[in-house]
Amino acid sequence: MSTRLVMGVDIGGTSIKAALLDSSGTILSKREEPTPVSLGEDGVIARVGEIAVRLLETNRLDTHHLAGIGVGVPGAVNVQAGVVYHAVNLGWKETPLREKLEAYLGIPVLVDNDANIAALGEMWKGAGQGTTDLIAITLGTGVGGGVIVNGQIIHGVNGASGEIGHMTMVPNGGPPCNCGKTGCLESYASATAIIRAGTKRAQSGESALLSRLLAANGSLEAKDIFAAAQAGDEAALAIVDEAAFYLGLALSHLANVLNPGKIVIGGGVAAAGEFLFSRVRTSFTRFVAFPVAAASCEILPATLGNDAGVIGAGWLVRARL
Ligand SMILES: [Zn+2]
Repeated sequence: MSTRLVMGVDIGGTSIKAALLDSSGTILSKREEPTPVSLGEDGVIARVGEIAVRLLETNRLDTHHLAGIGVGVPGAVNVQAGVVYHAVNLGWKETPLREKLEAYLGIPVLVDNDANIAALGEMWKGAGQGTTDLIAITLGTGVGGGVIVNGQIIHGVNGASGEIGHMTMVPNGGPPCNCGKTGCLESYASATAIIRAGTKRAQSGESALLSRLLAANGSLEAKDIFAAAQAGDEAALAIVDEAAFYLGLALSHLANVLNPGKIVIGGGVAAAGEFLFSRVRTSFTRFVAFPVAAASCEILPATLGNDAGVIGAGWLVRARL
């Protein structure tokens, strides 16, 4: 009986994604279902267990074929204990996820934060392949991050490391952030921040192009601001330049401390491609202290998209085999 297969699960605020992987990280089968947040932690954990069992049954397998199951959650995690300290979107606090899911499935369960498993996924099978010193950033509704040193995620004493989005870029001012501070990287470089800045320019009439798009569609998306900037709209370009400048600045701070081989950037905003990445690299190179550290660090788009989490969750198990 083979125990070489692993399962990776990514619990989000809206959906639970699960994948069955072979020992090389190739996805054999996937399943995705809505997260029943209203059922509370026991309801969500039971649903994760059901999804895992159904995914195995679909492939004519059972839990005996799995070496274990790795699970990512959107919150701070005590990795040793498998306890979720706090996951706002799920309404969880001090949730003993490992204990409860192991009781349900009867196989080893490993738990980590969702941004961390995405970073591990990119290291194993994505743009981060070839280095064990990697920083992964996701530019979405917020700015999430995972830091890998020598192949290991850095967790810190409270599982609260990797909060790259809340690095302060402007100490005395700047837009407000969800964390309660102002001037965080997230308040410049997240999709939310870029849309907010674009909407402001559209409403003030500073950007005729964005004003027209806002009037036509009722709201703006981050890609509208990037398209306007690429079309030569100065107000839109200023928003993109500011986001890229602060992103490069924040990454230079991290590179000065960690000297990573790669920085991988994913999420909706990263879809802007080279128009964004070239600007981020310019700012990054300007602020990295040693030319050798800048030259040895590649800044690349993430390649796994929504699969990064389940693949990285599978890596949690693979790494313990
Ligand atoms: Zn913040």
